[in-house]
Amino acid sequence: METEYQYQKRRVPLDRNSEFRFGEGKISGYLSITLGTLSLLAVLAYRYPAYLTTIELRQVYDAEFLQQLLKYGMYFSLFFGLLTFFLNRRKRMGITGIGLTVLGFLLGGYDIPVGPVEPVRLSLGVDWLILAFLGSVGVFMTLEKLFPKYRNQVILRDEWGLDLFYFCFNHLMISAILIYGNYHASHFHWAVSESVQQAVQSVPLLIQVCLIVICADFVLYWEHRLYHEVRVLWPVHAVHHSVESMDWLAGSRGHFIQVFSERAMVMVPLYLLGADQAALDIYVAFAALQAILIHCNLRFSFGPLRYIFVTPQFHHWHHSSEKPAIDTNYSAHTVLFDRVFNTYHMPEEHWPAEYGTTVRLPRSYLGQLLYPVQSLLGRKR
Ligand SMILES: [Zn+2]
Ligand SMILES: [Zn+2]
Repeated sequence: METEYQYQKRRVPLDRNSEFRFGEGKISGYLSITLGTLSLLAVLAYRYPAYLTTIELRQVYDAEFLQQLLKYGMYFSLFFGLLTFFLNRRKRMGITGIGLTVLGFLLGGYDIPVGPVEPVRLSLGVDWLILAFLGSVGVFMTLEKLFPKYRNQVILRDEWGLDLFYFCFNHLMISAILIYGNYHASHFHWAVSESVQQAVQSVPLLIQVCLIVICADFVLYWEHRLYHEVRVLWPVHAVHHSVESMDWLAGSRGHFIQVFSERAMVMVPLYLLGADQAALDIYVAFAALQAILIHCNLRFSFGPLRYIFVTPQFHHWHHSSEKPAIDTNYSAHTVLFDRVFNTYHMPEEHWPAEYGTTVRLPRSYLGQLLYPVQSLLGRKR
């Protein structure tokens, strides 16, 4: 029983080798390479916007204004690269950062003319990747450094590279995910009711958003629960649960089948409700931010809001491998359906001591990609 379970405090030993300390050239080295990589990607996106930018996103940002940002990104990458070099440590990192940026300059730099874009059906979301990365680092990584749950957890924690790969993949695939989601939802055209849609559109914007959140949450709750409770589906979702350190990047880990199916399922209630575009936009922004927030290494409890919304503590429990938490806390947005269907686990002030799966998954992208197939074939339990 829950009351008998002895909750332990999580121990996170400080990993001195992965820590960032001033004066070692490591901070400037990583900054130079990161900015150099983002700059090069941005230059490519300005060169080939039809193939490397997202139609939906292009309408939201000002491409010419972002070129100013790119200019600073490129100069700062050079600056940090040179700093790394002169600190006389990790010269290779400095040279790599400078090299990436110089390549960006050679390919056109920050003043490639911006014009109308010939739309193509399927493109890579390079723009979405760059903006989401900058936003996540700027907001969530910063919050994690200021208000960490586990102060000893470093930015470059175990398997950060694997999760960064998932992050990049999921963002680059945005067009394909949206196309698939819309295609899937269109199969439900028989269920569209004009009177329902008119009723939805007649209520105030905030109520429309609440309706979307609740309907989406209901679908996501059951989709998630099936992934846990149907034997053949679990190995696909187990990839998301294989992460053993929680932070802003951890939520990116997910088998592509799960990423695509989740989006496809949630598109159905959005399509049937037929709410105003503004309500949909608010929901999409809310859902995207909440999905990152709930995986973060943040100590906020969110006060009374935690009795309504899914919070980091609530979703951290979902990722726990401790017995009382297994197969609980399925909701994505509000705690409503976990309450209704009796899968709510929130032991007041306690947080999990262990994260991950009870059976350990392969630790490589390819291993995790094939894990569901291997499980089906019975090689892995
Ligand atoms: Zn789960
Ligand atoms: Zn999660």
